[in-house]
Formats: sequence, C-alpha cells, structure tokens
Amino acid sequence: MSIAWKILIAILLYPPMRSSEVAEILEKCESKMVDSLVAMCRIPALDPSSGGDGELEKVEFLEGLLAELGMPFERMDAPDDRVPSGIRPNLLVRLPGKVKKTVWIVSHTDIVPAGDRSGWKHDPFDPVVEGGKVTGRGVEDNGQSVIASLFALWAVKEAATEPELTCGLALVADEETGSDYGISYLIREGAFERDDVIVVPDRFSADGSEIEVAEKNILWIRVGVEGRQAHASTPERGINAHRAGANLITWIDDRLHKVFDKEDPRFKPASSTFEPTKKEANVPNVNTVPGKDVFYVDCRILPPYPTEDVFKEVETLARKAEQQYSVRVSLEKVQEESSPETSEDSEVVLRMRKALRDVLGVEPKIVGVGGGTCAGHFRKAGFPAVVCGTGDETAHNVNEYVIVDNLMKDARIYGALFLG
Ligand SMILES: [Zn+2]
Repeated sequence: MSIAWKILIAILLYPPMRSSEVAEILEKCESKMVDSLVAMCRIPALDPSSGGDGELEKVEFLEGLLAELGMPFERMDAPDDRVPSGIRPNLLVRLPGKVKKTVWIVSHTDIVPAGDRSGWKHDPFDPVVEGGKVTGRGVEDNGQSVIASLFALWAVKEAATEPELTCGLALVADEETGSDYGISYLIREGAFERDDVIVVPDRFSADGSEIEVAEKNILWIRVGVEGRQAHASTPERGINAHRAGANLITWIDDRLHKVFDKEDPRFKPASSTFEPTKKEANVPNVNTVPGKDVFYVDCRILPPYPTEDVFKEVETLARKAEQQYSVRVSLEKVQEESSPETSEDSEVVLRMRKALRDVLGVEPKIVGVGGGTCAGHFRKAGFPAVVCGTGDETAHNVNEYVIVDNLMKDARIYGALFLG
C-alpha cells in the first residue's frame, strides 16, 4: 500500500480533533455568550452568611440555558436549612467520551456582596457591556468561567466529534464561604474519580498563560490579650491590654518574617506573608485603660513550612508578652488550611499545557498563589487539580469586570482541553 493510502486510511479511522471547528462555533455565538453572562449575573447568588438566599435561582437560570442548548444535566444538592429552599444546588453536566474518565471544569455560582456601593459606576447587579468589557458583581468571579466552560462543552457537542475522555462541568455552590455545601460536598459524595482531570478556572493571569499548581498554607490566628481595666488617669491601677497587644503585634511581625524567610519564585509574593489584620474594638471611650485587646494575624505560609511551626513561634511570643506585661494571652486558630501541591508532571498539568500552547501559542508558566480556591479542596482529598484563566483579577473589587475577548479565549482553551 502506498504511503498516501496509509495516510488516507489513518485520517478516515482517526479523524483529527476538531478544535478549530469548536473555535469557529464559539466565534459565532459571542453575543449569545455575553448576553448569557449578563442575564446570569443579574441574579445574585449570595451565601446565607452574607445575608443571601443561596444559588438556586441562578442555577435554575443555567438549567434553562442548558435545556435550550440541548444539554442534559443532573443535580447534587446539599441540604442547608439556612436558605429558604433548604438546598445549595450543585449542577453537573456531562458529555460522554470514549471512556468514562472525565475532564472536569469546576466553577462556582455563588458570589460575594457588592461591597461599597458608592464605588460602583453602575448597579453591580445589572451588568453593563461597554467597550468590550462586562462590568458587574460576579462577572469574573466566577461568571466568566461558568459561561466559557458551558459554551465550550456545547461547542464540542455541536462539532459532533466524540471526545476521547468524557467532558464535564461542575457548577458548584458555596465557594466563597468554605465550600462545605459545594465542592467539599461533591467530593464527599463521590462525584469524582481518582484519575479524573480537574481544572478550576478561579484565578486569572492577564495573558492566561499561568497554571497554578500550589497554594500557600493558610493560618489565621485570633490573639486575645487580657489585662485589667482602669481609669486612664490612674494607669498604675490597671494593666493595659492594648499596650501589650500592640507590642505583641510588632514582635510577631518581626519574628515570623525572620524565621520563615524562604522564598519560592513560583509564588507572588515569593515569600510567606504574615499580616496583622482585623482588630476588635476594645473600649468605646478615650479615658479608659482597656482591659481586653483582640487582634488577628493572617498567615500565608510557603508549603515547606508546616502551619504548626508558625503557631509555635507565636505561642513563644505570647508567653513572653505575659511575662513582660503581666497579661494573659490566649491564641486560637480560626482557620487552618494546607494542601499538597499538584505535581508538574501530572496529567492535568500536561493536558493544560497542551491546550494553552495550542490556543495561545505561548509557553505556559507554572505558578503558586496565596490561596484558596476549590483546587485546594481537591488537592487535600488527593485529586491533583490546577487553576488557570484569563483576566485582570478584579474579583471582589468594586467595578469587577471581564474583557469579552478573554471570555472567548477561555472558551477556546476549554474546548481544546476537552478535545485533548
Ligand atoms: Zn471565585
């Protein structure tokens, strides 16, 4: 048989993956994608702890869109009696491939509150399309990824090429306040298989070339200092908890930065961070020596350091403050998260690299971040996962926006990822 015949037979047996066809299909539905993003973000999906009713209305909107596009879906709802519906809905969409193993794109439907309304140029819950940008609460976090991945999956279906792996979307609840009713619930309920390929587009780089494989370990410490209240004109009768607390803050700041000083250039910033943040009110008036002082430290610790080592250093300083100022210091871990990193040789990194190279024509960069996305929950549960996406990182800001070109670019990247 001649070489030409062999090539022809090979093409007939194994038609080339139609990622360019997927890109063409996507290009034609740009305005439908933008309209869907705007309509979806008109429905706020706030967590109950932020005073909202949860995600149900938004998920029902997405179900309507999926039905219109002829895509079957299923729900795995977590019960939550804090919301009127009693459920936090998680939506799963699958397009069967030659094998059951699944490439998942995981994005979240909940949002954070608008914040300072006076800073918004428009109503945050009535997104505006202007100059190639969509502005509104939730458009980037995580609306862009919800819409880009949904249409990418639809385009793969329209291209009528059976993908190698099954392609899936997980549109999850409760990412912004802990994920107990969202991704953690799905992991616990066995929605994912060990060898699935998991991508979480919930952090963005301007050119989309970054693949995030690791998060810093998170430790939030509440520091309570107890002294004795007194009139400010007779401080000798009291023990000023605020003075002790203020000094303790500076010791913690100095000490932690000195001891945990390693750098890892994959992270921005490259070092661990230790920030004194929240400060609880002590006394309401100026002329009282405060008997109590409470502050918090947000620590983002590079993976080689265990969170426990950081906590021990703070404990040592707390004992020193007790001796020096005759106060009592209590420490409480209010948040502690650590997850292993995803290996740069793992299948998900290799597949993501290929999709980015194919669509962007650039060499992807492996990075780490300060934390935390749904990827951390996957990694903790033993699933290698990566985070990527194209955007200006306006999440949680006033005037949060997405650039329409980035929405389209991400959809093409997910299309390429689905086709392998
Ligand atoms: Zn997010």
